[in-house]
Amino acid sequence: MKAHRIVVVGSANTDMIIRLKRIPRPGETILGGEFFTAAGGKGANQAVSAARAGGNVSFIARLGQDAFGDQAVAGYASDRIDIAHVVRDPKLPSGVGLIFLEQGGQNSIAVASGANDRLSPKDVKQAAALFTGASIVLLQLEIPLRTIQAAIRLAVQVGARVILNPAPARALPDNLLRQVSIVTPNETEAELLTGVRVNSVASAARAASALRARSIPTVIVTLGARGAFVSSDGIERLVPGFKVRAVDTTAAGDIFNGALAVALAEDQPLTQAIRFAHAAAAISVMHLGAQPSAPLRRQIDRFIRSSAGR
Ligand code: ADP
Repeated sequence: MKAHRIVVVGSANTDMIIRLKRIPRPGETILGGEFFTAAGGKGANQAVSAARAGGNVSFIARLGQDAFGDQAVAGYASDRIDIAHVVRDPKLPSGVGLIFLEQGGQNSIAVASGANDRLSPKDVKQAAALFTGASIVLLQLEIPLRTIQAAIRLAVQVGARVILNPAPARALPDNLLRQVSIVTPNETEAELLTGVRVNSVASAARAASALRARSIPTVIVTLGARGAFVSSDGIERLVPGFKVRAVDTTAAGDIFNGALAVALAEDQPLTQAIRFAHAAAAISVMHLGAQPSAPLRRQIDRFIRSSAGR
């Protein structure tokens, strides 16, 4: 059995992006756009982030039996992710995101989840062997809730820590949250889960304590460029982010979560692990795209060394 295994259960999409001068209105056609595709989906982004950051990653997901699915799986394999439990759905197409990206950074996104919607508790149970010996199970909310619940149950059975990145934002039952070790909402997600409007360090602290009151041992509220507020046993503080020139913050949260899982699987202390995740996410925002921008371990280590003492 390999040590420090990270199991990611989540969504896999192909993003199709048109960058253009403005987002078309209903009924309108705009010429002159620039087209590119990028592998995406929160689950896959986090799996790739963790693998590049040095994690031993197994990914549980569902894709269609189509060219997008083939391409996605080939990408994961080239990042040395264990894809034995990436299931190919015979009926539904791979998940796709259609993205209009306007000059100035505004976007408009439509997602057809396709096969992601059929990732089932049974798929997770069939991968039960992966959970044995895993130190971290990393989850997000782009797959059915009952599948997330099945993954949490298995993780708890084998004593693995569960990191839940509650994105995209949605309300969650207490009995699910209670079994999670670490929850990592951004400002919007923290507000949806707690009702506390998060727009400052003080309000992040209030949201974090509301979540801890729901029996979650560790809460990390990410605050974009400012960093993250962490609340855990004996720790209650802002861990500042790194100052960089941001080009594209798409998937910053995903890169953060993947790298955080690696640092925690390596038993780095919590605030050091958050700093490691900040470094990975800061490098990623300097580059375009979700998975293309996930940095390698040596880039993260070099970035942290060169920023030491700053
Ligand atoms: P999400 O992408 O889920 O909305 P955040 O915007 O809170 O999440 O960002 C997650 C993490 O990404 C932050 O905690 C930080 O580490 C990093 N990050 C995001 N934006 C920037 C930025 N402009 N400069 C540096 N780091 C950033």
